[in-house]
Amino acid sequence: MAATAKKAELTQIGGADLKRFVVHSALLSLIDPVRGEPTRTSLEENPDGDISGGQQLKQKFLDSFALICSTSSSGAETASAVCLEQHAPAGAILRVAHNRGLTPKDLTGLEKVLQILRVVARKGTYFIRNPSRLLTQLAMQKSRRRKPSPRFSAWLSNWTEVGSCQSPRRFEKRGIRNFLREAHSRLLAGQVKPETWAKPGLKLWLESCPFTAASLQTWSPATMAMLIDWASQARWLYSEQLQGLLGLDNTQKPPWLDSLYKIARYRAAIKSMVKLAAKQPEVLADIHIREIKAPNSRQFSLSNERAPLLAAVKNLVREDSGMIMEQLEKHLGTEDAEAQLRRACRLNLTLHAEMQIVVFYEGNPSSAPRMPFIGTSKKACFLCHEYLLRHPLRLQASACHQKIYPSWMPPPYYPIPGRFKKSTPFVKLSKNIEQLTKRELLTALTAPRRPRNQDSTAGPSLTITATASTGLGL
Ligand SMILES: [Zn+2]
Repeated sequence: MAATAKKAELTQIGGADLKRFVVHSALLSLIDPVRGEPTRTSLEENPDGDISGGQQLKQKFLDSFALICSTSSSGAETASAVCLEQHAPAGAILRVAHNRGLTPKDLTGLEKVLQILRVVARKGTYFIRNPSRLLTQLAMQKSRRRKPSPRFSAWLSNWTEVGSCQSPRRFEKRGIRNFLREAHSRLLAGQVKPETWAKPGLKLWLESCPFTAASLQTWSPATMAMLIDWASQARWLYSEQLQGLLGLDNTQKPPWLDSLYKIARYRAAIKSMVKLAAKQPEVLADIHIREIKAPNSRQFSLSNERAPLLAAVKNLVREDSGMIMEQLEKHLGTEDAEAQLRRACRLNLTLHAEMQIVVFYEGNPSSAPRMPFIGTSKKACFLCHEYLLRHPLRLQASACHQKIYPSWMPPPYYPIPGRFKKSTPFVKLSKNIEQLTKRELLTALTAPRRPRNQDSTAGPSLTITATASTGLGL
């Protein structure tokens, strides 16, 4: 980055450039919101598995820290991104961005976690032997209110709503209790395969489910810590047996199991944070959080446009536009595709956390991290991933869920004197999105849609996991 970048004024993408980009993104999203196979993130790996390199430890730490920065139950509001700045002689800095900004309470909770990690860094293995203290701290980020964080409550509610449209409070333990009762009696009646029965500790684990012990309303941090441990065993120790006990094959996964796996990520996150503190204490010894202030969202609509879809289609495919419009209406199952596009483009554009990080380092190039990695609470979206690929900072996130969001706000940028405007990352991305939209209009309208991907780091189904991004063919 040129040293002069900081002096230039931050320039927003607006006008015709913004309109064209949002219309193309919305059109792609309507045709198929999933742009490829999801890739795998570090928190989908077994927390007790081997991590070899120091760099990998740091990356897993950043994904973990981003996960605990994510404190609301709404994915869109809570997505977080974190970079590690290590510029001696000052202590390390965790540069944190959050889609809607962190509250003072969030920051206080995160500071407490860092305090514990600093102690781990000073005392070595003490907390590895006593991880429940850290777990307890994480489970009650809002410690003064003696309540778990809202995100935890949301997950627990999701879990308990299983198979029931009635009040989740009333049925808060029904799903899991029924499962436990059934699983236990199957086990005792010898209705499971001998290899399931032979798994050491299975019966004890089933009987120790924290759901049978307390009500959702009165859960203490200690119970929450027990649940995280129990969930982690469900994910990593007994997942095969669990499938067998539920009578499911490898492709089926009930929704509550997904909630359980989301909770299991917390143990993976805690383990990797403690591990970095113990193995590389110099990183954590004097570490601090610095927050990036999230910009306000911007409203976008096509209400003043006469026929924005036809205009876009004509511009992309010229003489074939009549036929393409017909195919598009058939593909979308509507007689008024214009109205559908208009609805899809009534948006509050949000600058995603990953993009806030990019804008920050463009303005502060001397702070840019040596390890070009962004830890994320969720897999990066398609547009963030593609923008990062075209940006000179070369920052990377660990995985991409490949979904395209039309509400993605193009990052503002610092114009560099002497650099041709057409070479900015946004212009390159916009051109590729335009080409992709044209290609999709010509070839994809009659093809079947892809299955839905997960945004979270809880992982796809038990068996299916892609390892490479398809991207835009860079
Ligand atoms: Zn994104």
